[in-house]
Amino acid sequence: MGSRCIRTCQSCGMPMDSEDDFGTEADGALSDDYCTHCYQNGAFTEPDITIDGMAKVCGAIMSQLYAIPQKKAEEFSREQLSCLKRWAGREVAVCGSCGMPLLRDEDAGTEADGSLSAEYCTYCYRDGAFTEPDLTGEQAVMKYAPMMASNLGIPPLEAEEMVRQYLSTLPRWRE
Ligand SMILES: [Zn+2]
Repeated sequence: MGSRCIRTCQSCGMPMDSEDDFGTEADGALSDDYCTHCYQNGAFTEPDITIDGMAKVCGAIMSQLYAIPQKKAEEFSREQLSCLKRWAGREVAVCGSCGMPLLRDEDAGTEADGSLSAEYCTYCYRDGAFTEPDLTGEQAVMKYAPMMASNLGIPPLEAEEMVRQYLSTLPRWRE
């Protein structure tokens, strides 16, 4: 794995940063893609759950954690879930700096040779360099939190906490 890599469960979106967080395959090996709550012994623990059902579950947790209105939390969760392998049919990479899903080619940043970046979005990364190279993690929190606060209808402090937690799972901000 090289430098320690936090994976996101491709069913529920939970970050998996210790071995205990990973689900298991039928042969007992750790799953590459899914967390222990979603996937055990090579099968989903809730094989029939739909993306809407999952959005309800995740939304309820988010709503509790960050005092987000239930409905907003569900919508937000559904959007996040729609980028995960279980629901999208393929794993959609997210920008390692801001977390934006890289759904289409035009979402991707560019390398110095003009090729598309597999890791960063077009807003964060162009011509092989960050568009804001001096941005610190804390500045990034302050940059994205107001957007999150107004999207979710939550107080700025809650939004900052949420963004801080989320950014800490992304490669650019991980130590
Ligand atoms: Zn980005």
